[in-house]
Amino acid sequence: MPELPDLEAYRSFFNRRIPGVGIEAATVSIALVVRAPKDDFIATLTGNAFGEVERRGKFILFSLKSEDYLAIHPMLSGRFQYCPPKEKRRAKTCFTLALANGQELRYFDERLMGKVYLVKERAFDAVPRFGELGPEPLSEELTEEVFGERLRRFRGQIKNVILNETLVAGIGNAYADEILFAAGIHPYRKRTELSAEDEGRLHRAIRSVLSEAAAIVTERMEKEGLPVAEYRDHLKVHRRGGQPCPNCGASITEITAGQRITNFCRHCQA
Ligand SMILES: [Zn+2]
Repeated sequence: MPELPDLEAYRSFFNRRIPGVGIEAATVSIALVVRAPKDDFIATLTGNAFGEVERRGKFILFSLKSEDYLAIHPMLSGRFQYCPPKEKRRAKTCFTLALANGQELRYFDERLMGKVYLVKERAFDAVPRFGELGPEPLSEELTEEVFGERLRRFRGQIKNVILNETLVAGIGNAYADEILFAAGIHPYRKRTELSAEDEGRLHRAIRSVLSEAAAIVTERMEKEGLPVAEYRDHLKVHRRGGQPCPNCGASITEITAGQRITNFCRHCQA
């Protein structure tokens, strides 16, 4: 699932390529993911042009010259293609935008769980869950004090707490594992058991892990292109069950509960 670092990389990738570029034609091939009437979607985009690309939580926000936005939440498997029209179209391509620079911007989604919204006149509150998103983890507003204050409103296991996007936006399953590893906090610890020092380490880990990953993924996307699966080689514990912990060499633990894999080091995380 694309998380904050992946979405930051998309934002950067598209900002180097599409601001100011006109949209000559729009085609919807799988209407299911498009949360707008197909005719409205096509009419709004055709003849429009892209402005800056923004991000909020796990939404990528393509601003348009008309002051509307194309807001996309890729969920588990939403991906983009940016390529010449002759390049083979992927099977689950949901929409295609033919651009004035000769390229096509396509959105494809293997599991069709992603959501594509047309946001008129910045009415983002009409987008489900958008208005409930907590602060951006890398924003200046999220000081250690603000974070601690927000954190204390939540109960339960700390991994579940940081996955709750009403606390902070943009953290998903993979980076939650990485953040807790960096902070030395066991994912199943109860939030109420954390000390002020733990909260401080968690705050710093959220910011350092996400900003470092965003830089790595941005660079790889620029060099290697838009991914079909996220660039995740830099992760230290997530999906590395049974491999040695990079800190202590002990075997990384893997626990699957529901649909979710959790990885951590029993030695380094308490
Ligand atoms: Zn370890």
